[in-house]
Parts: sequence; structure tokens; C-alpha cells
Amino acid sequence: MTPAAFEPDVLRLPLFGDHHRDLADRLDRWCAERTGDWTDPAAEPADRCRALLAEIGGAGWLRHLDSDRRASDLRSVCIRRQVLAYHEDLADFSYSIQELCAAAIARYGTEEQRRRHLPGLAAGTGAGALALSEPGAGSDLAAVALDAAPDGDGFVLNGVKTWIAQGDIADVHVVLARTGDGPGPLGLTAFLVPGDAPGLKASPIGAIAPRSWAELTFTDCRVGPDAVLGERGRGYVVALDVLERARMTVAAAATGFAGRAFHLALERARARRAYRGRLADLQLVKSSLAEMRIKLSAASLLAARAAWAADSGEDYAEASSTAKVYATEAAGEIVDAAVQIFGAAGLVADSPMERLYRQIRSLRIYEGPSEVLQMGIAEAL
Ligand SMILES: Cc1cc2nc3c(=O)[nH]c(=O)nc-3n(C[C@H](O)[C@H](O)[C@H](O)COP(=O)(O)OP(=O)(O)OC[C@H]3O[C@@H](n4cnc5c(N)ncnc54)[C@H](O)[C@@H]3O)c2cc1C
Repeated sequence: MTPAAFEPDVLRLPLFGDHHRDLADRLDRWCAERTGDWTDPAAEPADRCRALLAEIGGAGWLRHLDSDRRASDLRSVCIRRQVLAYHEDLADFSYSIQELCAAAIARYGTEEQRRRHLPGLAAGTGAGALALSEPGAGSDLAAVALDAAPDGDGFVLNGVKTWIAQGDIADVHVVLARTGDGPGPLGLTAFLVPGDAPGLKASPIGAIAPRSWAELTFTDCRVGPDAVLGERGRGYVVALDVLERARMTVAAAATGFAGRAFHLALERARARRAYRGRLADLQLVKSSLAEMRIKLSAASLLAARAAWAADSGEDYAEASSTAKVYATEAAGEIVDAAVQIFGAAGLVADSPMERLYRQIRSLRIYEGPSEVLQMGIAEAL
């Protein structure tokens, strides 16, 4: 039977192997066993994310982050995100950030850096973050200004990062900073900064859907030469590489959220009595449900195509952007249409549908807003 988070037959396509189908099935069953809230809803988002990392790490779902493979299998990452997003927003959130941070370290770190950081990230006992954005540098990452001034054999960091997921719980941050080796993107270097580094302060930010999210202030924060991740002056490449690989996984997560909304709306339309029949019998409601299914199928296929291309060593940047733009925009429309089918019941605070409505919004913005990705797609024409 197809796991609930997936469209029928998509996983059976030759784009996937048996180990992908097995992963989807096992993770879906593991998630389905967790009924109700996975963590205490009254707890602080930071504590909830820590608890979730420990739970998914303890169950072995992060083990691959400490493998010897420099390139992780993106179809598996997409599957994990789609299943987790379908079942529990914060589990997908923390998993995805852990994946971003670990991917940067696995792909660009030295043997020593990988040995130091990856085991904790893979066990879920340590949390990671990817700190790129700043108050003056969001979509335009080449404008990053956080200063990394050479000091003896190390560097001293001064400046502010913002909107950083897991920023208030991270044990290790991948930080993009300006070392001034060249203009714009050429002057940027990636660093690994411990969460408890002297001079680093994290201030939580409240969000539309609560999560561990923070502003980071660096005040004379000194790091040693072993903190440089990859080559000096090549930090922009590290950031772009990690983001390009991640975009298709955002598409997969969007499909997970939207799939949940679709199933809830379908159930509701079948159960709700109206005009001596069921909502599901009304033609306009049928049309809305059909549109949802069509969009879900298209989003699933676009994410699968991008992940397959990346795993096959083919060009995937455009496919990854295409999948993200389509799937996240479509997911916004699907969740909105699902709320409409619920009527007032879809707006009850903290109900599953109301939460989905808040949870889906950020996906069109983070890791490249739709408009920025559309510009890239158009430029490649
Ligand atoms: C939930 C969440 C988690 C996040 N986590 C992280 C994280 O862990 N690490 C991190 O570094 N950052 C993170 N971010 C920040 C995120 O990457 C930025 O929000 C994103 O890059 C957009 O930057 P901005 O918000 O500064 O928007 P701006 O750059 O100010 O852009 C605002 C809007 O302008 C439009 N726009 C921008 N550029 C163009 C263009 N070229 N053409 C047309 N329109 C354009 C778009 O509509 C865009 O939404 C997170 C954001 C969210 C919402």
C-alpha cells in the first residue's frame, strides 16, 4: 500500500529504487504510530525542536548524516521530508535544518571537522544551523556583510545574522562571513562556529508557526584557523551548492503538507452533510478536490525529477528551482482550498487545518523566494 504521504504510484516509478520505497514505508509507519502531539505544545519551540531531534535521531532517522558518502542521496532526503511534513511540521523543520548543516560539513569539511561535528548531528544529540541571511542580505546573499577580520592565525567575527532556523539551539553554526578576498560573492568564506562560542548571542524570534528561530549577534567572536569550512573566499559556492540541493527537498515537504490538507479536506467533504447530501457531491467541491490532486501529482513528479537528476550526476539546479516554485505555490493554493472546504471549522485556532495554513506560508520564502527562483529559471532559457 502507498504510504499516506505519497501520491499513488509515484514511488513505483523507475525514478526510485526499492530502498526508497522501503524507507518511505518504514518512516511513514513510524510516524503514524505517534498519534497526537509529538512534543508538549506548551513548551518553548526551542525545547520542542531539541526533543524532536533527540527522538528522530534516537530512532536512527539521522544516521546517514555521518556516513562516508560526500554526496547524500537526495531522493531519500525528499522522502524523509515529505513523510515528516505530512505528519509533524516541527519534525520536518528540525530534520531539514540538521540536513542543511550536515550537508555543508560533509561536502566541504576536512576529515577532522567531519569527525568533530557529524556524529552529534547524526545522533540528534547535537543541533546544527546554517547562518546565511542578515538584516541587509536575504535574497541577495552576495551582500553578506558579517565581518571576519584576520587575527593572528584565526578570525574575529562581528555582525548580525537573522532568521536562523535552530539558531537558538545549534551546537554548530555554518556561518557565511566576509573575509574581503574579493568583491561581492568572491569575498565570502564559510566558517564553523560553535553555539557556545564567546561573543555569540542568540535571540529567539517568534514566528507565524512556532519554531526554533533566532537572530545571532557576533561581538568580537574569535574562531581559530580550523573553523574555515572549505576554501577561504569560496563561501558563496558552499552556500549556493547547499541551497540548490535543498530546494527540491522543500518541494517534497510542501507536497507532504499539502497532501495532509488534501486528505483532511476529502474526509471532511465526504462526512459533512449539506443540501440533503454530502459536500463531496457538490460539483464545485469536486472540482476543487480534483484540482488539489492534479497539483499534488505535478508537484510530486517535479520533486522526484529534480532529485533523480541530482542523484544521477546530471544538471539539476533548474529542475530543483522549478520543483520548489511549483510545489510551494501549489501547496499554498491547496491548503487554502482545503480551508475553504472546511468552512469555519478550518479556522479554529490550533486545529490541524489552521496549523497547516500557518505552516505552509514560509516555504515560498525560505531557501529562495519564488520570484528569485523564477528569475533564475528565466535567465537559463
Ligand atoms: C521559516 C524561515 C526559516 C529560515 N531559515 C533560515 C536559516 O536557517 N538560515 C538563513 O540564513 N536564512 C533563513 N531564512 C531566511 C530566508 O532565507 C530569507 O527570508 C530569504 O532568503 C528571503 O530574504 P528576505 O526575507 O530578506 O527577503 P528580501 O530579500 O527582502 O526579499 C523580499 C521579497 O522581495 C522579492 N524579491 C527579492 N528578490 C527579488 C528578485 N530578484 N526579483 C523579484 N522579486 C524579488 C520576493 O518576493 C521576496 O520575498 C529563513 C526564513 C524563513 C521564513
